[in-house]
Amino acid sequence: MYIEKIIVVGGGTSGWMTAYWMRRLFPDIKITAIVSEEIDILGAGEGGLPIFFGWFKQTGIDLKEFFQYTGATVKLGIDYRDWYAKGSNFLHPFTGDLLRVGDVSWPTLEESPKPEEQDEAAKLIWNKLTPQEQEEKIKELDGEHTEYVDLSDENKELIKDGVLDENTEDIMHEYEEDPDLEIRDVNKHSRRAYVNRVYNEPELNFLEWASPFMHDGIPDESLEDLMKALSDNQMSGVSLHFDAIKVGEFFKEKCVQEGVLHIPGTVIDIEKTAEGMITGIITDDQEKHECDFVFDCSGERRAISSKFEEDKDWWPFPHLTLNSALPFNLENEKDIGMWTAAQAMDCGWMWQIPLQNRIGCGYVFDDRFIDYDYAQQEVEKFLGKKINPIKPVSFKSGYLEKPWAYNCISMGMSQSFVEPLEATALGSLCVQHFILRDIIYALVEKFEEKRIEDFTNWPEINWDEGDYSIAQLEYNALCGNIIREIADFVHCHYYTPRKDTDFWESRQELFNMNQEEFTGEGESMSHKLKVWKDTPVYYQPETEAQQIYNEFNLICVFDGLNIYDRKERQKLMANYPYLINWMSDQNFEDWKEIFQEEKLQFNNGRLKQFDYLKKYEYLTKT
Ligand SMILES: Cc1cc2nc3c(=O)[nH]c(=O)nc-3n(C[C@H](O)[C@H](O)[C@H](O)COP(=O)(O)OP(=O)(O)OC[C@H]3O[C@@H](n4cnc5c(N)ncnc54)[C@H](O)[C@@H]3O)c2cc1C
Repeated sequence: MYIEKIIVVGGGTSGWMTAYWMRRLFPDIKITAIVSEEIDILGAGEGGLPIFFGWFKQTGIDLKEFFQYTGATVKLGIDYRDWYAKGSNFLHPFTGDLLRVGDVSWPTLEESPKPEEQDEAAKLIWNKLTPQEQEEKIKELDGEHTEYVDLSDENKELIKDGVLDENTEDIMHEYEEDPDLEIRDVNKHSRRAYVNRVYNEPELNFLEWASPFMHDGIPDESLEDLMKALSDNQMSGVSLHFDAIKVGEFFKEKCVQEGVLHIPGTVIDIEKTAEGMITGIITDDQEKHECDFVFDCSGERRAISSKFEEDKDWWPFPHLTLNSALPFNLENEKDIGMWTAAQAMDCGWMWQIPLQNRIGCGYVFDDRFIDYDYAQQEVEKFLGKKINPIKPVSFKSGYLEKPWAYNCISMGMSQSFVEPLEATALGSLCVQHFILRDIIYALVEKFEEKRIEDFTNWPEINWDEGDYSIAQLEYNALCGNIIREIADFVHCHYYTPRKDTDFWESRQELFNMNQEEFTGEGESMSHKLKVWKDTPVYYQPETEAQQIYNEFNLICVFDGLNIYDRKERQKLMANYPYLINWMSDQNFEDWKEIFQEEKLQFNNGRLKQFDYLKKYEYLTKT
């Protein structure tokens, strides 16, 4: 059986983004989106993660078009207010680069971009340097980065035939003193050498690439240029706020333009083989829609996966107890910042997301402590004005242990949800897409015994041979890992000494809860926090695609909540000299100092969101 017909069930952001992702990976497969007209989309979800840029780049989304269509704004991170104590606040920017402290660098880049991307990025970055800086770079590279190039006759032939690229590592032999090797004048190739250096030395990282584009925290190039300069899956230090409904519409339009068939209808049943493989989807008009593969993007209803035994393995995150939200909008201010505000409230927190034409807001709370009426009163008292709530939302934090079962993958809210703090849902969706792509790559590689450059051969995978189960295991394990890591990271935010309401007091107990008894995985958060606090490298995600959060992010939150034992850490750091350069205590102190200054300046509104949007023609035209 070959995959020729894919059905995506659901027309929320996840459904349309998944349909578009599949269309881009598999231009020749028939893709149908079946969308209920009776069941509303969730319609929340207005804050993104930097991983969007990788996703946009892969799918060829024009950023300007996206901004103009969705009324998006630039997001540098999250401003946490009153979390440690009333009157305190801390910022969680997407990268430490916003703070620009000397040589401190945070995430590392492991995957090299393609040579043409290197060229493009190198050109942009090189041109950003002043002539003096260029000269310094060249001097720095001289001697340290002399290139010994193997220009044997054989290689010359291969270069002529286009098999070898003379500008790549294929023919470079660094630091070798073989007399047969030619020494290339590094100055002539300084740009290339600079690129190689940035990418090949582990202690240097992509921030060095992004730095020339950032000025005092705000990108000083258009985001499109920044995106062009970064490799596929990279974080960019920046993300977006957007109108949730318009994002769905944007991708719906794109899908339909690119041949995705849109069928309105509510799925009521499925047809499957004795082995459990879905062969048809039945809609409420009794039509049967044949399929080889299904994506269940029907939100919390899980219209397809709920028909499987595996659906019983939906694990709640018992430590994330917030389950209700009261969304509303506020009028825009004259100028708006570039941060999502996360304002701690009596029984939860309130988001404020600045968009081009409004501020999207919502109070997220635990309904064991208050109800919607109380939530509204508290918000109105806090803001000193009346609000008009949009429809109340209830949700559960948890995840499906086997999102890929048989020939169906559950994505978006159908697969998992971690309460909205840190706005991770759509970013996680992008990660799910990347993981699936990588697994398909690996499968194709395995079947074909070679890496292919496009995905159009996917239908060649013969599911009957049974190998798909390896893919399923891998996919499910990776998705499970990342969502548990995200849940733990979000949970850390509640490690605060606040005890002024029953809600805040109750947070402490949750840290001793042993997650194992609920999910069969993981330790109690108290244990994890101890490990994270006492270990220099707190958190190392396994693959690039999973790199949503790293130690930088943890430090921001730990420091913001004052749970960082600086003295203990200093002792520990002494055992890890190789880390000192990039995460020393002194650097951390410098970072803090500059951080405070930056914060003041951010708070004084020095960064003008609208000026930036106007300059790069990102403002919506309507
Ligand atoms: C309070 C709150 C705040 C959030 N904030 C953020 C944020 O800041 N950032 C972020 O990334 N995410 C956020 N999220 C998550 C985000 O809202 C979702 O990830 C996003 O809306 C995508 O949802 P979805 O497409 O998976 O599901 P939905 O939007 O629920 O869409 C489900 C679709 O499936 C269809 N459907 C359902 N049943 C059937 C059926 N039987 N047959 C056919 N079609 C069917 C529905 O009609 C709908 O089109 C937030 C969530 C909540 C609850």
